Amino acid sequence: MSQGLFATLQQLLGAAYVQSSEEAAPYLTDKQGRYVGQVIAAVHPANTEEVAAVVRACVASDTPVVVQGGNTGLMGGATPDASGSAVLLLLDRLNRVRAVDTDNDTLTVEAGCILQTVQDVARNAARLFPLSLGAEGSCTIGGNLGTNAGGTAVLRYGNTRELTLGLEVVTAQGEIWNGLRGLRKDNTGYDLRDLFIGSEGTLGIITAATLKLFPLPKAQATALLAFDSLAQAVQFLSHARAGFGASLTAFELLSGDCLALLREQFPKGPQPFLGAVQPWFALLELSDNHSESHAREAFESVLGDAFEQELLANALIAESLAQSEGLWLLRENMSEAQKRAGRNMKHDISVPISQVEAFVDHTDALLQQHFPGVRNFTFGHLGDGNLRYNVAHPLDSTVEAHMANYAALSLLVHDSAHAHGGSISAEHGIGQRKVGLLDRYKSPVELDLMRRIKHALDPNNLLNPGKVVEVIAS
Ligand SMILES: Cc1cc2nc3c(=O)[nH]c(=O)nc-3n(C[C@H](O)[C@H](O)[C@H](O)COP(=O)(O)OP(=O)(O)OC[C@H]3O[C@@H](n4cnc5c(N)ncnc54)[C@H](O)[C@@H]3O)c2cc1C
Repeated sequence: MSQGLFATLQQLLGAAYVQSSEEAAPYLTDKQGRYVGQVIAAVHPANTEEVAAVVRACVASDTPVVVQGGNTGLMGGATPDASGSAVLLLLDRLNRVRAVDTDNDTLTVEAGCILQTVQDVARNAARLFPLSLGAEGSCTIGGNLGTNAGGTAVLRYGNTRELTLGLEVVTAQGEIWNGLRGLRKDNTGYDLRDLFIGSEGTLGIITAATLKLFPLPKAQATALLAFDSLAQAVQFLSHARAGFGASLTAFELLSGDCLALLREQFPKGPQPFLGAVQPWFALLELSDNHSESHAREAFESVLGDAFEQELLANALIAESLAQSEGLWLLRENMSEAQKRAGRNMKHDISVPISQVEAFVDHTDALLQQHFPGVRNFTFGHLGDGNLRYNVAHPLDSTVEAHMANYAALSLLVHDSAHAHGGSISAEHGIGQRKVGLLDRYKSPVELDLMRRIKHALDPNNLLNPGKVVEVIAS
């Protein structure tokens, strides 16, 4: 059967665009090297019609289909299982810009477009596409939509969902739904678009999207701020929101331990606040639609008030683009700094901003009680209540011994996030890594509704099976 399907796929796409499992090896391991899959074939369709034809061929042979974009996802969502029974759908050839519409401030692109390319296309049209994340040089719009990616500008512009007006989707039956409407208002029944966004390839294959564009800011201002406590950082954030309004674009937290780790791993990198005693820092970015001087005035006024009200311990304001990039490098280098220091346990959690301090205090203490000596490297998108709550091995122990505690330690972190009104996945999704956890944190009613949606759209469970929601055989 699989030989027959391989030949059919070659006929549909041309032999050059159908790879065997061996040839497709680079696509079969996830970004973090946790999962390795096998496939009947990996295919590179040229357009939406070819995607639909591939899905129909797979349906006819009862073959699962796994869609992959840039393979930068962190939950193993784009990696097929090891059974070798699936077809991997790669959208690298669906990379056309279909329309730039500056009257409506929209951009229509195919799902395989790299995020950075989309940002560039918008900038060339004197517009901003604000989605921005560490993997932007290799992740795709399809993957961003599949995971409802967040990133550093959610505070101002929202997640990928909020940046999307319309979609084109190939259904689990191989039909094409053209929902590429660029309307800001459209209340005509169930919102199918929102169903597909964040569904991680389990409900349909997104082949194109109409995205929102925004005015390019006239000026940007960046500062690194130091705080005496997390509570102070949270109070400052509220003050900054009131003072800057919609101009506040990013508020990225870094603990003092993160800053020390960056110094250790990047001794030639930027070294702000050397010798500072504060335990928490945050990178603040302001986007101003008036002018450099307007941004500067707003900065001075809001930061000045904050000092007077003791909402801030210290501030370092970037005086040039180079300085601003240097400050952002701190945040961007955090993943690499941790990698260089050895594997650690990563948790992408969110809690209401009002609960951030309670969550951190409670969870840090609980960890020391159960796993003495572990080291916290907590950073993340504080403006969205989204923390990277990462835990490294005790200095008197090994990485291997620490990682052996993964299940118990992570359960404790996730239980704590849940108990503080939060989520076990803020922006990375569920994939295969967290699929077993939903039973613990979602109500039976919510899970049942999710399973019913999955069954209604993909009754044969052929789209990315084993991801997001476990389907109970009927
Ligand atoms: C250094 C680094 C920094 C990161 N920072 C962030 C961050 O700040 N915020 C954030 O949200 N994420 C972040 N991520 C995670 C990752 O980059 C995002 O999840 C990204 O959106 C994935 O895009 P991708 O094209 O690589 O998707 P993939 O990894 O290929 O796929 C991810 C999921 O989406 C599905 N999918 C892919 N394409 C489609 C499609 N066309 N239709 C339907 N489903 C599809 C896949 O099946 C899979 O389930 C980061 C990752 C790295 C490595």
